[in-house]
Amino acid sequence: MNDRSDVLVVGGGLGGLAAATLLARDGRRVKLLERASRPGGRALSLPVGGTSSAAMNLGPRALYRGGPAERLLAELGVSWTGFSPTTSKVWLADGADVFAAPASVVALLVSRRFSWSERRGLLVFFARLDATRRATLAERTTQEWLDDLAISGRARRFLESMIRLGTYANAPDQLPAAAALTQLQALLGLRAKGVAYLDGGWQALVDQLEARATAAGVTKVTGATCTRVEDGGVVTLASGERLVAERVIVALPAQAALQLSGVDPSLAGPPVRAACLDLVLSRAPGKRLVFGLDEPHYLSVHSPRLSVAPFRVHAMRYLAPGESGHAQRGALETWLDRAAPGWRDDVLSARYLPEIDAASAMPSSTPPVPQLAGVSFVGDWVSPRHQLLDAVADSAQRAAGGLRASVAA
Ligand SMILES: Cc1cc2nc3c(=O)[nH]c(=O)nc-3n(C[C@H](O)[C@H](O)[C@H](O)COP(=O)(O)OP(=O)(O)OC[C@H]3O[C@@H](n4cnc5c(N)ncnc54)[C@H](O)[C@@H]3O)c2cc1C
Repeated sequence: MNDRSDVLVVGGGLGGLAAATLLARDGRRVKLLERASRPGGRALSLPVGGTSSAAMNLGPRALYRGGPAERLLAELGVSWTGFSPTTSKVWLADGADVFAAPASVVALLVSRRFSWSERRGLLVFFARLDATRRATLAERTTQEWLDDLAISGRARRFLESMIRLGTYANAPDQLPAAAALTQLQALLGLRAKGVAYLDGGWQALVDQLEARATAAGVTKVTGATCTRVEDGGVVTLASGERLVAERVIVALPAQAALQLSGVDPSLAGPPVRAACLDLVLSRAPGKRLVFGLDEPHYLSVHSPRLSVAPFRVHAMRYLAPGESGHAQRGALETWLDRAAPGWRDDVLSARYLPEIDAASAMPSSTPPVPQLAGVSFVGDWVSPRHQLLDAVADSAQRAAGGLRASVAA
């Protein structure tokens, strides 16, 4: 592995693949080091129940339209097809009451599911959302923001469920209000174009990005675990081998990236976690999209057509900080009995992922990015403004742009 590279990329998830491809297209000799036997990381779609026909994302995935991720994919020539779930009816489950979410101002005005003061609070909230600026919410948590607006009761639980949907965070007292605002504006299509579920799952992105990386000349090394990254672009592998390059891009989740760089990983804080129940069903649930209000649960049908079986269905519990997902399967399944009655009779295969990191750290306007000469970082925790795959794409663009700028200088 000693042939010299200009750039070493550590980690072959979507972030590492994208950064490697951008730099290889600039004419750099790029080597991508991936610990697993194949690239993809958290974006892999894997078979549920052993049949490749039932490959599914590891938990639900929605591509935010019009943001950094979609722009970068387009720049790299990665195409996708899919559908927008936001056009379907959304259901809300509050205890035993499962009802359609008001989909318009008029529907909200006449809704009997919310009290008059709750309706007024929601109307004012949504009317002001587009004009609300991140700067006005700086230093505030989501809890403080909603407290300031005096939104309570079921209306509050409704907003919290939408914020969980956009951020995966079930921690209003820790989530920066600016982060909640950004995702709400994107979800509702105010600053972006809503979201899309992709045909073939996110594996379609992984496969195409891997092909683009190869075409651009990136050398991929799988089974390569990096144990240390140091000043001056020095990378040590688990085998003991040391590699040196002009630039190193660390494209790993927050804690792993900090640990590798010799920085205390606890500075990143805990990851944002979810417990996911991925189901292949013989019959489609009657409701395609259900948000829990009294419990942090979610159900979504990811199959585009309800006439063609089998159906891919994601159920999920947003875990509070420190909560274990191992004991939550029963609670999630009991909730599903209300959200999708009869689902147990239709299960062809099921996969429970008790704790998966939807985001490797809580969003922050001051992420703890290590300062190492010749080393840049890419990931869902690096961008001060964006989240999830948008943060990965934003940081990949910045890492590539930073190298271009230093060469030009
Ligand atoms: C349940 C769930 C739902 C999600 N939903 C959405 C969504 O709706 N919208 C959205 O935009 N985003 C969503 N995301 C987030 C999105 O999937 C991730 O942000 C993105 O896939 C992360 O890519 P990455 O390359 O930064 O990291 P990863 O995918 O984690 O890739 C890191 C790679 O590094 C490798 N690696 C780790 N350690 C080492 C080492 N020491 N040496 C070498 N290689 C190493 C790993 O094997 C892995 O391949 C979701 C994530 C989850 C888990």
